[in-house]
Amino acid sequence: MTINIIGIDADDTLWHNEPVFRLTHKRFNELLGEFADEDTLEAKLAAVERENMKTYGYGAKGFTLSMLQTAMEVSDGNVSPKVLREILDAGREMMTHPIEPLPGVEEALKQLKDRARLVLITKGDLFHQESKLAASGLGSHFSGVEIVSEKTPDIYTKAFARHGGSAESSLMTGNSVKSDIIPMLKAGGYAALVPYPLVWWAEAAEKPDGHPRYREVSALGLVNQWLDEIG
Ligand SMILES: [Mg+2]
Repeated sequence: MTINIIGIDADDTLWHNEPVFRLTHKRFNELLGEFADEDTLEAKLAAVERENMKTYGYGAKGFTLSMLQTAMEVSDGNVSPKVLREILDAGREMMTHPIEPLPGVEEALKQLKDRARLVLITKGDLFHQESKLAASGLGSHFSGVEIVSEKTPDIYTKAFARHGGSAESSLMTGNSVKSDIIPMLKAGGYAALVPYPLVWWAEAAEKPDGHPRYREVSALGLVNQWLDEIG
C-alpha cells in the first residue's frame, strides 16, 4: 500500500498545548480558592465544559466561557468583577501564547513531505488554529489544512477525499487515541500515535494495540520508518 497523504494533528503533536490549559486551570483554582477546594473546582469546571462543548465546540474561547460560568456557579453569583476580569485575561493569554514547534518536528515534516502530501487536520476554533499555524512557521510544509469541528470516521473520509485521496491510502498521526487514531482506523486508514506526556480528560481512550494499521511511535520523525514497512 502506498500512502499518498499524511494527516497530521496540531495541538500537542506539532506544538505544546495542554501545558497552557494546565497553567490556566492552576490560575483559575487560585482565583476561586475562597469558594471551593481544587478538586471541587476541577470537577465542576469539567462538568460545565462537557456540557458546553455541545454548544461552543473545542478551543480556548469555549473554555474561557466555561471558566466564567463555573466561577459564577461555584460562588452563587458572589464572584467579584475583578476575578471575572482576571479569568477573561487568562483566557485571552491562552489565545496569544507563543507557539514553538516541539523538538524535531520541523525536521520530521521536511522528511515526511518527501514521502506524501501533508495535510494538517486539527479540531477547534478556526481563527485560533490558523493563528497558531501561522505563528509556528510550519505552514509551508503542508499542502492543505483542515480545521474541523470534530474528528470522526466520516470527517476523515471526506477530508482525505477533498485532498484527492482516500482514508484507505492515508495515514493520520497525532497524540490523541480518541481523535487521531480510533476514528481514522474506523475510516479504513492507517494511524500512528505520537504520545504527549499530558492528556486532556476528554481525549482519554484505550489504545488499539495489535491493530494491523496502528503503530505507536515515540517521535513524529519515526513515522517515516513505518511508511517503509507499509510499502
Ligand atoms: Mg492533539
